[in-house]
Amino acid sequence: MPSFSSFDFSGKKALVRVDFNVPLDDQFQVTDDTRMTAALPTIRKILADGGAVILMSHLGRPKDGPTDKYSLRHLVPHLSELLGTETKVHFVPDCIGETAEQAAAGLQAGEVLLLENLRFHKAEEKGDAAFAEALAKLGEVYVNDAFGTAHRAHASTAVIASSFPADRRMFGLLMEGEVASAEKVLHQSEKPFTAIIGGAKVSDKILIIENLLDRATDIIIGGGMAYTFMKAKGGQIGKSLCEAERLDTAIEILSKAAEKGVNIHLPADSVIADAFDAAANTDIAPSDAIPDGWMGLDIGPVARQAFHDVITRSRTILWNGPMGVFEMEKFQAGTRAIAEAVAESTRNGAFSLVGGGDSVAAVNKFGFDDQVSYVSTGGGAMLEYFEGKVLPGIAAIR
Ligand code: AMP
Repeated sequence: MPSFSSFDFSGKKALVRVDFNVPLDDQFQVTDDTRMTAALPTIRKILADGGAVILMSHLGRPKDGPTDKYSLRHLVPHLSELLGTETKVHFVPDCIGETAEQAAAGLQAGEVLLLENLRFHKAEEKGDAAFAEALAKLGEVYVNDAFGTAHRAHASTAVIASSFPADRRMFGLLMEGEVASAEKVLHQSEKPFTAIIGGAKVSDKILIIENLLDRATDIIIGGGMAYTFMKAKGGQIGKSLCEAERLDTAIEILSKAAEKGVNIHLPADSVIADAFDAAANTDIAPSDAIPDGWMGLDIGPVARQAFHDVITRSRTILWNGPMGVFEMEKFQAGTRAIAEAVAESTRNGAFSLVGGGDSVAAVNKFGFDDQVSYVSTGGGAMLEYFEGKVLPGIAAIR
């Protein structure tokens, strides 16, 4: 696989799979363009080389074929704005077929062509080979820069790669960065390696914890999922979140960790509340002695200090999931403390990767996004990578 940075795109038409699945308001204005700006370095490098860019993406989940609501046409003004007036942005109302082929053929160096929503064709998500072939016709080089969909074996994310020879298919800059930092954490981690796993449910995080038991030296468990562990250990958790059907899983994880010599850190104390409400009454209690009628909604001060100490002596840190209900002010101190500790550790030379929707939202909210080594844009793809699964989008290029 060629390195994107050293590939010369001059005179070439690059077919680039991006993730432009951005939120739109009622007026079809882009309300958060993070995913679009993330792809700009890749687009700009191809244009600067003297190449042309054909962009393909999905938008939303159109169930019944083409609908204006999910048309990528709505993104053209914003994309033009981001690229600047000197870059011409064309649009075609279908991603395959004669019109698309003519538009691609007529595209000049320095120009961009945005194709209509890939998911307007059912064949995209089915990974249909003929559809992939029809897309492949449009470009001479295939670039995958959509890490967010790398865990899907769709036509444009995986199947299409085999239509290009190995020296004409590669990752874009965003994808390269994502893959390199994920691999650094999973396969070349300096020890101590601490994984911080939070969020609501144990069931969502079992596979990732199991895979990390073979890699990490320390696993911090916080958030709602911590109370299933507390309960499994015989604690009283009041009306905290608990997955009764996962109590055995929690015990199993704890005993496997003990066997493998991995330290599991649970929150010693919690910020408790008498209701799941921003205005609830609150108190502090040991996480295994929460009074009836109360629930743990954040880690407490003792846990914050203990987790801080583990994090700041780590050399590698992976963070997925908040420590509490950080959307409400009364329950955000735990997640904020973790963000601070990860930033402090990073300043002292640790490599830190933050991934998964809510922890990314948290570091952004508290303003620590530029104080960690890498913030992953691919929620589901990141999770599956750390679960130890092979991502079709990565495998197809390699
Ligand atoms: P996840 O998507 O699984 O990472 O979970 C994130 C969600 O878990 C956030 O919306 C948090 O508000 C929520 N959460 C975190 N801690 C708790 C808790 N102790 N009780 C209930 N919900 C929680």
